[in-house]
Amino acid sequence: MAPSSSDYFAVDELLSPEQRQVRASVRRFVDDAFLPRVRTHFAAATFPTELTPKLAALGCFGPTVPTEYGGAGLDSISYGLMCQELERGDSGLRSFASVQSSLVMYPILAFGSEDQKRHWLPQLARGEAIGCFGLTEPDYGSNPGGMIMRARPADGGFVLNGTKRWITNGSIADVAVVWAKLESDDGRDQIRGFLVEKERPGFSRPLMHGKWSLRASITSELIFEDCFVPAENVLPGVASLRGPLSCLTQARFGISWGAIGAALSCYECALDYARSRTVFSRPIGGYQLVQAKLVHMLNEITKAQLLAWRLGTLKDAGTMRSEQVSLAKMNNVSTALGIARLARDILGANGISDDYPVIRHMLNLETVNTYEGTEDIHRLTLGRDITGLSAFE
Ligand SMILES: Cc1cc2nc3c(=O)[nH]c(=O)nc-3n(C[C@H](O)[C@H](O)[C@H](O)COP(=O)(O)OP(=O)(O)OC[C@H]3O[C@@H](n4cnc5c(N)ncnc54)[C@H](O)[C@@H]3O)c2cc1C
Repeated sequence: MAPSSSDYFAVDELLSPEQRQVRASVRRFVDDAFLPRVRTHFAAATFPTELTPKLAALGCFGPTVPTEYGGAGLDSISYGLMCQELERGDSGLRSFASVQSSLVMYPILAFGSEDQKRHWLPQLARGEAIGCFGLTEPDYGSNPGGMIMRARPADGGFVLNGTKRWITNGSIADVAVVWAKLESDDGRDQIRGFLVEKERPGFSRPLMHGKWSLRASITSELIFEDCFVPAENVLPGVASLRGPLSCLTQARFGISWGAIGAALSCYECALDYARSRTVFSRPIGGYQLVQAKLVHMLNEITKAQLLAWRLGTLKDAGTMRSEQVSLAKMNNVSTALGIARLARDILGANGISDDYPVIRHMLNLETVNTYEGTEDIHRLTLGRDITGLSAFE
């Protein structure tokens, strides 16, 4: 009998029973609780925040954070499988969990004081507090080191001024991890991370409108106008661009798994459709051109699954390099986007209808291909790694 074509190389056999269990429970949640409502939220450009407690109960917030801080204490492959299943639902759902886990809980765990960890991590893990991550600015996306946002030393703390844009969860977040240049007297500015609570005077978070991608996700601006934060709100453990970039490495790891989920959803939908849709005299799945498209999709998914699994083993062994994450993010997202476009084509007119998940994934993946380092920025990162020559500027 042919193996399941969604797992053609039996990657399943490489997983532990615990990892399969994690995947099964998140899959069940996505099928039962998320998919029935995603159309409504995508159309309205809203996020189903009412699902937050269930996501927390499944361990989706800080899955690899140690249990003493309220995390699930799982391994990286389990985290990856969660991302895969969440993004099989929608990239907006996976983004919600990725930001909370990799961009908010990770920097607090890695660079925070003991007080910050004890205060924030348990409530973030329980979903009682939501976080966001502010790095991108209107004029600085791929080159965040040029950021304009400034922190000025003030009595007992710092005063923040500047604007962050395209910030996932911004308007619904209780706390923002924000990166700013701390001005110093000797002119050697440092990039520092600040924890900014939503109610701080001088901090506003207007919602961004008009997105045609990642619609079931909240995207906002973060505006700081003489916003004072006390000294204990600075992340003490890092004072350079290494801080935000290391968070992005964590998030990109999850994205390289998540993209497979979106690709699987598109592939399974197209395969099902091709078997049943009759045009001229037979199901379109019986035509060579359609089979070639389906085989291409399967081929790319299989490679992406093996890449993600191997990346997970490297991460858990502590030997994963950020350039390897770049390769996996670049390959798996670009692959998923190509698969979504092919699936859309196989579905004909139905491919643009929200009766099917395909166009929603296709539109979402345009964002996923851009955020957390565009496809080309990762290509440049890899080019620099293998030649030793930087082509960035
Ligand atoms: C829906 C959504 C959610 C987001 N969520 C967050 C978030 O939560 N937090 C956050 O901080 N940011 C977030 N972002 C921002 C995202 O990370 C940036 O959009 C991304 O880093 C790209 O920056 P940019 O849009 O300014 O593009 P630019 O940097 O202006 O790039 C434009 C184009 O130029 C290319 N390019 C740039 N430099 C080079 C070069 N040296 N050589 C060749 N080509 C180059 C790029 O590849 C791209 O094609 C989000 C974005 C979106 C769309």
